[in-house]
Amino acid sequence: MSPADEVSTGCRVLAAHGNADLVWGHLSCRDPDGHGVWLKSAGYGMEEITPERVVRIDRAGHLLEGGDKVHLEYPIHTEIMAARDDVGAVVHSHAESAVAFAATGLPLRPIGHEGTLFWPPDIPHFTATGDLIRDRELGAAVATALADRNALLLHRHGLVTAGPDVATAVMTAVLLEKACRMQLQVAAAGTSYTWSDEDESRAKRDRCYGPAQLQDAWAYLLRRL
Ligand SMILES: [Zn+2]
Repeated sequence: MSPADEVSTGCRVLAAHGNADLVWGHLSCRDPDGHGVWLKSAGYGMEEITPERVVRIDRAGHLLEGGDKVHLEYPIHTEIMAARDDVGAVVHSHAESAVAFAATGLPLRPIGHEGTLFWPPDIPHFTATGDLIRDRELGAAVATALADRNALLLHRHGLVTAGPDVATAVMTAVLLEKACRMQLQVAAAGTSYTWSDEDESRAKRDRCYGPAQLQDAWAYLLRRL
């Protein structure tokens, strides 16, 4: 699959699983030959993305190939990839559950399997601004907050996930949205609730969401497109 194929496929999976927000939110992957980043084109919903609606840009956001419009928040992708050699793909979405959950101020806990991907330790929270991540300085601040983790909550805004490849970054976003949604549901019940302790969470993280398991789940979501 070409990078543009991967990004377009990943965008349609994100749209089908809780990460769509009209024409906003995006997915990127690193160019395998080291020539910039492939990013969803602006102006389209994620479910509308085809390989022709994926652009290749440089770190300054200059359009190098494909499409015609670059998302304002491209620095999320370019600055995380600049900071992290291990990251091959980045998701940024305005998943409603992630935005709503971040606003509660609660720490994210593994209510079910999904949360084990994100705790322990606590998922990073970016609170410096709820505005767009519209320049390299803000993008670098998000990368610093993400550090070596797989995901981050942008308060008053959305989520960011990072992985070695498109499948991992997209699956991480799908599972983070679900983890946030489940905790909102139990918090709304108004009762006390329980979650996995640290040892159980770490064990489940490896058992439920190792690379082979994530690939199987990814293949399933592709079959459902
Ligand atoms: Zn955004």
